[in-house]
Amino acid sequence: MAIREIIKLPDPMLRQVSKPVAEVTDETRRIMDDMLDTMYDAPGIGLAAVQIGIPQRIVVIDLAKEGEEKQPIHLVNPEIVWVSDEQSDYEEGCLSIPEYFDMVSRPKEVTVRFLDREGQSREMRCSGVLATCVQHEIDHLNGVLFIDYLSKLKRDRVVKKFAKAQKLARAGV
Ligand SMILES: [Zn+2]
Repeated sequence: MAIREIIKLPDPMLRQVSKPVAEVTDETRRIMDDMLDTMYDAPGIGLAAVQIGIPQRIVVIDLAKEGEEKQPIHLVNPEIVWVSDEQSDYEEGCLSIPEYFDMVSRPKEVTVRFLDREGQSREMRCSGVLATCVQHEIDHLNGVLFIDYLSKLKRDRVVKKFAKAQKLARAGV
């Protein structure tokens, strides 16, 4: 298990569409273990494989609070198969867009179909933070970021800020 580097805006890889996993193997499980290590270290509550530079349809989530027993959720090839009509607003952040938070409106409840850590097909009904998190992470697999739901003005401002920070970092400033 290892902590990997999380790629950040404006890395173009964040816009890639991730490929489905053909079969859940030990290699898949190794990636998920690294993803969890990386997410706990950050710390965060959800991570998509593409965020550590692996464009495969793999997501990990853990909503356990600090000090609570870990409750990792492993989602391979996750797919939203039902959404509620009711929406809810939630202040989202992203490990690839550090220290930026904004309100996003999404379906309040969803059902997700996925393969678990053992490759078994499952369905899970999600509400609350879990519903938001699942949708946010599946968006990553499609190259979509939460800032895409904001106004163009806001989004451009965020992208510009991160592009500038990257330039300064490269210049060694
Ligand atoms: Zn994210």
